[in-house]
Amino acid sequence: MSDLPASAKVIVVGGGIVGCSTAYHLAKRGIETLLVERHQLTAGSTWHAAGLVGQLRTSANITKLLGYSVELYRKLEAETGQATGWKMNGGLRLACNEDRWIEVKRQATTARSFGLEMHLLSPGEARDLWPLMAIDDLVGAAFLPTDGQASPSDITQALAKGARMAGAKMAETVSVSDFVIENGRVRGIVTDRGVVRAEKVVLCGGLWTRVLAAKAGVNVPLYPIRHQYIMTEAIPGVTSSLPTLRDPDRLTYCKEEVGGLVMGGYEPNPIPWSGQSAPEDFAFRLLDDDFDHFEPIMELALGRVPALAETGVKQMINGLESFTPDGNWMIGEAPEAPGLFIGAGFNAFGIASAGGAGMALAEWVADGEPPYDLWPVDIRRFGKNHLDTGFVRDRTLEAYARHYTIAWPAEEFNSCRPLRRSPLYDRLKAKGACFGEKLGFERPNWFAAEGETPVDRYSFTKPGWFEAVGREHKACREAAVVFDQTSFAKAYVIGKDAEQALGWICANDVAKPPGKVIYTQMLNARGGIETDLTLTRLAQDRYYIVIGTGFATHDMDWIRRNIPQGLDAHLVDVTSGFSALSLMGPKSRDILARLTDADVSNEALPFGTAKQIQIGGAPVLAIRITYVGELGWELHVPTEFAAKLYDALFEAGAGLGLADAGYRAIESLRLEKGYRAWGSDIGPDHNPYQAGLGFTVKLKSGIPFLGRDALVAAKAKPLPRLMAGFTVDDPGAVLLGRETIYRNGERVGWLSSGGFGYTVGKAIGYGYVRREAGVDADFVLSGSYELEIATERFPATVSLHPFHDPKGERIRA
Ligand SMILES: Cc1cc2nc3c(=O)[nH]c(=O)nc-3n(C[C@H](O)[C@H](O)[C@H](O)COP(=O)(O)OP(=O)(O)OC[C@H]3O[C@@H](n4cnc5c(N)ncnc54)[C@H](O)[C@@H]3O)c2cc1C
Repeated sequence: MSDLPASAKVIVVGGGIVGCSTAYHLAKRGIETLLVERHQLTAGSTWHAAGLVGQLRTSANITKLLGYSVELYRKLEAETGQATGWKMNGGLRLACNEDRWIEVKRQATTARSFGLEMHLLSPGEARDLWPLMAIDDLVGAAFLPTDGQASPSDITQALAKGARMAGAKMAETVSVSDFVIENGRVRGIVTDRGVVRAEKVVLCGGLWTRVLAAKAGVNVPLYPIRHQYIMTEAIPGVTSSLPTLRDPDRLTYCKEEVGGLVMGGYEPNPIPWSGQSAPEDFAFRLLDDDFDHFEPIMELALGRVPALAETGVKQMINGLESFTPDGNWMIGEAPEAPGLFIGAGFNAFGIASAGGAGMALAEWVADGEPPYDLWPVDIRRFGKNHLDTGFVRDRTLEAYARHYTIAWPAEEFNSCRPLRRSPLYDRLKAKGACFGEKLGFERPNWFAAEGETPVDRYSFTKPGWFEAVGREHKACREAAVVFDQTSFAKAYVIGKDAEQALGWICANDVAKPPGKVIYTQMLNARGGIETDLTLTRLAQDRYYIVIGTGFATHDMDWIRRNIPQGLDAHLVDVTSGFSALSLMGPKSRDILARLTDADVSNEALPFGTAKQIQIGGAPVLAIRITYVGELGWELHVPTEFAAKLYDALFEAGAGLGLADAGYRAIESLRLEKGYRAWGSDIGPDHNPYQAGLGFTVKLKSGIPFLGRDALVAAKAKPLPRLMAGFTVDDPGAVLLGRETIYRNGERVGWLSSGGFGYTVGKAIGYGYVRREAGVDADFVLSGSYELEIATERFPATVSLHPFHDPKGERIRA
């Protein structure tokens, strides 16, 4: 076809709202952009969306991104002349029981933390805004005035028009069947009209993305699920200024549409599509109405909006949408195929997300990195367990069914378990382990004592595991415990240039002799923390890297990507080859000494060193570090020896009080010790100085490294924020993260993580204190602080030192 060029700088595949928004933002940056769509624009999931646009999420940056969508949608009609149906009537969220009310109040505080206005309302006030609703079961409601709604097709056409106005080409009825791949990089697309070459390709193919991406060897864990709503005849009293309504306890949502209501819901028994992807000719199509399946949702809605009983249903929409295993969408450059970017899996909030997602994708494509930390939606958060379509489908169904259930703190998924198991799994289960799961790996969260049941009981106040975790915490501080951390990702960097390569990627000095352990961050060009891990130098040409379980794909991708070309340095994933048992606590040396001929004294094996030793018959790399603030070792052992090592530790440690302990104790212990957690406390938006990790940076060494220039520049200026720790004395205070920080009555930030410290006996939280004019230790420490928890303020004590053992060892996050 004549309008299909032979090449473009960037090709966007898919003309739904996400593809059109991406093309719009690319073109606005002056980048030569071609969008190809198999049918016509909006033909996939976009045309039949309900069009609610909400903003509040649990991550500040994703909330910011949705806020960007709102800003864009507000002005798009004026910019393009194309109607968008945008209305900013606000959004109501209802609470019908005390737990939901706590959740809603926590959301109101989260909104405040992130700079969004959200008001709590009494049932009567809520009804004033939404007069048709019955309020007899309401405890309260929250109102977010800047939420809105849009016409999905119109807003997509407006984005497409804006893209064309900025120079993008849009080619409809062009079907992409494969990719041009050269030297491992994606360099174009193969279509039914021939090949089009490009520097980069962005895949926004909706629910078809999984199958198409697989052609380039890229895993996109999404699954199509049926989603239904009804459109009613006009209802007296429904005005065009009605806010959107979310009624999670009744699993339903509503919005006004031509004087009637759109009403849909999230059923607990969703129906997946029969295969991974719909047929290629599934354009502007719906599935057959399924009133039987919708009936329970309808019943629930009738209790809220009695007028529905007397109103005719104009149309039922049963559409397909792509959902994902954790309920969040995914964007970013595929770790398996450089040059191929993904924007897919929008979980029925693609209209709300597209403005921001398209902006972020365009920046990622153009600049090589996203505008800010987007870890919750980064495609690299997935792992090997997500390769399996059965896993993706079943976990996704569970996530869908939970869309409107209460999001309990520390809640675990139940489907597809157990999948990946440590060799100790059965032993730990027999000893009362209650497991959690990360990237498919079963990990002991806590251990039930005799008479307790190892099942999580969730709560916003005191969860069922509270006492058990306290016992494990105490055992670690006073005797010794074993944590099974086999789920750690592990890798070698091997080659004669290993030191040079890691020297460039790491902010800390890696030019250390074999046997040394190095705690380091890896930084992006802005000085932001991309990874936070430990390296052990094993030999001149070999480092052993230990990576947090959930960061396996991300961190390995970061390292592979940044090894300078031409160097003899290679990353080898050895995750499955080793188990890791962490022996931690003041008695850990006594236990080790009973099991090995090796000298494990402080002189022979000081903090920050590692040695290959035999323990109880097993060859063990004993790495002396800690994330819990006690004397201890991570014992890395070939997987087949793990059970023997574990048994030997307990034989030797029984009389010394050795106990099993789990990940929830680790969290409590690390909070007391002030160790940072990547993904919450630290990430790409924070440099080590802001995070209080300046001691790990080799700036003075003069050795060049990625992010160095940015750190030099950052050091010359006042810090815009500084991480601080907080405790709250009030025993009723429960910190979970996202609570608002007030300094001298002024909002200065929010908690990045929170929990309970059993040794200090208080709630502990960490968060950045922010100020445009700059923040230093004096500023932080001279303030008087309060934390807002679920809309209530509590006095808090600030500290820049760990709450437990302030002079202790400081390594390993
Ligand atoms: C019933 C229902 C109600 C919803 N309500 C809301 C709501 O209220 N608010 C909200 O925010 N979201 C809602 N959504 C979700 C929203 O519709 C989607 O998240 C959004 O439309 C996804 O957009 P997309 O661009 O990713 O995908 P799509 O709109 O599906 O676009 C993908 C496009 O890629 C094209 N394509 C695929 N493969 C190829 C190929 N090989 N070659 C060329 N082109 C290809 C397809 O033809 C398609 O046009 C709802 C969804 C459903 C089903």
